[in-house]
Amino acid sequence: MPDNSGERDRTLGMGAKITRRDFLNGVALTAGAAIIPPEMWAAVAADLQSSPGYYPPAKTGLRGDHAGSFETMHQIRDAAFWDSAPRPVDTGEVYDLVIVGGGISGLAAAHFHRKAAGEKGRILILENHDDFGGHAKRNEFKAGNRTILGFGGTFSIESPEPYSPVARGLIEELGIDVPSYAKHVDKNLYPALGLKSRIFFDKETFGADTLVVNAAHTGSDESGLGNGDVEKDLQNFLSEAPLSAAAKQDFQRLIAGDKDYFPGLTSDEKKARLARMSYAEYLSDVVGTSEEIVKLFQALPHPLFGVGIDAVAAQDAWGLGLPGFEGLRLDPAPGKGMNRDSIPNEEAEKYFFHYPDGNATIARLLVRKLIPAAIPGNSATDVVLAKADYSKLDEASSHVRIRLNSTVVKVVHNGDPKAPVSSKNEVEVSYFNEKKVKTVRAANCILACWHVVIPYIAPELPDTQKEALASCQKVPLLYNNVLVRNWSAFQKLGTSSIYCPGMYHSRVNLDLPVSIGGYECTKKPDEPIVVHMMKAACKPGRPAREQHRLGRIQLYTTTFETYERNIREQLGRMLGPGGFEPARDILEITVNRWPHGYSYEYNSLFDQFWLEGGETPCSVARKPFGRIAIANSDADAYAYTDCAIDQAYRAVGELAKGSA
Ligand SMILES: Cc1cc2nc3c(=O)[nH]c(=O)nc-3n(C[C@H](O)[C@H](O)[C@H](O)COP(=O)(O)OP(=O)(O)OC[C@H]3O[C@@H](n4cnc5c(N)ncnc54)[C@H](O)[C@@H]3O)c2cc1C
Repeated sequence: MPDNSGERDRTLGMGAKITRRDFLNGVALTAGAAIIPPEMWAAVAADLQSSPGYYPPAKTGLRGDHAGSFETMHQIRDAAFWDSAPRPVDTGEVYDLVIVGGGISGLAAAHFHRKAAGEKGRILILENHDDFGGHAKRNEFKAGNRTILGFGGTFSIESPEPYSPVARGLIEELGIDVPSYAKHVDKNLYPALGLKSRIFFDKETFGADTLVVNAAHTGSDESGLGNGDVEKDLQNFLSEAPLSAAAKQDFQRLIAGDKDYFPGLTSDEKKARLARMSYAEYLSDVVGTSEEIVKLFQALPHPLFGVGIDAVAAQDAWGLGLPGFEGLRLDPAPGKGMNRDSIPNEEAEKYFFHYPDGNATIARLLVRKLIPAAIPGNSATDVVLAKADYSKLDEASSHVRIRLNSTVVKVVHNGDPKAPVSSKNEVEVSYFNEKKVKTVRAANCILACWHVVIPYIAPELPDTQKEALASCQKVPLLYNNVLVRNWSAFQKLGTSSIYCPGMYHSRVNLDLPVSIGGYECTKKPDEPIVVHMMKAACKPGRPAREQHRLGRIQLYTTTFETYERNIREQLGRMLGPGGFEPARDILEITVNRWPHGYSYEYNSLFDQFWLEGGETPCSVARKPFGRIAIANSDADAYAYTDCAIDQAYRAVGELAKGSA
């Protein structure tokens, strides 16, 4: 057979110059030890936050958990760090509080501590990535003279439960006027051009590459911009979808949903059954739909759960509004063991705000409060275009310092954890930065990092607590931002949002049209725009935690070249009929890889305690120990910004009580 790969690569534009393709991406990473040759470490270390031009938001290529951020921690996990680690160097620095992790939880903890302790509270935040914000990551692109923003992770202010008074209070204190969101979003932009949410049926899964209107309105449209005429959409779907006649009948039966599949059971009994079977099992074994329908719905829960319908309880699918439950006539109250994401709450739904860089703006507003010189301006709108000065983040004269590229490797009390603080009785924090192990001391420490990390860096914690911390298997996700020359292919194909159940990325969306603080979103189809592509790295058919573990390995071991190829191929296939040419139309790619993504949320299929009652692992995991407290959204097993804030507040309060 002739080898056409060269021609194929040219069509995809694989040889195209993508401005800063990360040179480390080609390094072979094994699932266990990720070994970076020493000469490459030097290059990583040379990228200092104080150097002129240091500006991580503008980096493209492989971001999120980027090369240089995770290798140290993986070596510690594999017991391969300390034997060859350089001798620790005492920096002589002493703080009131050291915070491990510069995500929203760590930054909020610094803010709450400053409010309680006032100016005397000197704080150091240590973060292993080259940027602050954790999952709340800003991606910047240049198209000519224009700056185009994207969200690399945490997308918006939203939560299935209303924000607590503490979290809401912080959002208000930062100046974010959540109810003003309607002023900034152009809700009519895409509908006015006739763009709808659509489903891409791929030929490997469904027999033919076909783009069809999303008649089920099944969650492919994260923009909330609406789809239009329901009845007409259904007719178009039924005539165009490459499904068998039987599957189309099943589809209609599901949408109509008037059959009671559990006659004779009470509403509670029905919910109890639904809580113990997956939605995939419900569809195939109870409703009796064809395999095609299961495949069609498989990826629907990806954005919320990071797994497909094989690992999401049917009761949760009911809560999310997926079809097939109407005829059961269930009492609308949440059932026992429902996932918190599946419990609808209208009050919570009203509290929504999306910045062009997502909740990176919250992180930036917090940094501005903590270190005003680092981010100019004074409002929650002017911050959108404000350029952060990273050289100001770690100045000796500042009360709050943020040190990037610093992986914390050990946190121990150097005296009795229960005794009052003194120079002989502090917390000693060691971190790896610039190829050195360095130590600082502090009266208190907050671990606002991922909980799976803590057992490896805080050896004093009791074993039961370490076990609980380790059970938080974060949900691996890929959030890719692709800058394209224009979106005329989307316009021609009549879509702004595509659900792709059989493809590498299960969601492809045009950026939400938000203009704020002088930032103008793209309004015309011939202008450049960021296309957001999302993948949940999962392995259907296994328990959720196992899927997350395998997905994490997949994300760490995939090279940028493969990510890029998958992006180009998928966009080419889906948008080609609209005139899209990957080689010509893709200008930049940023792959935000989050092997440790969402906090794990409990699931009635796999977590007995959640269904039957009992102590939750997160309540054991977050217990303070001496002068070490524990924050992060993992601390309440709830993957939302309000949780990260609430848990920071609790951790600060616990330390204050301890020292009172
Ligand atoms: C792709 C994605 C999309 C999301 N979208 C939303 C959304 O739309 N709305 C929402 O409310 N929530 C969303 N979330 C959930 C998000 O996790 C929370 O909202 C919030 O940003 C979590 O903040 P955090 O500080 O608890 O954790 P993180 O943001 O994870 O911050 C923890 C930090 O600790 C660092 N760290 C880990 N180990 C070490 C170490 N040894 N030394 C130093 N630092 C360390 C990590 O690198 C990280 O930067 C999303 C998450 C992801 C992954």
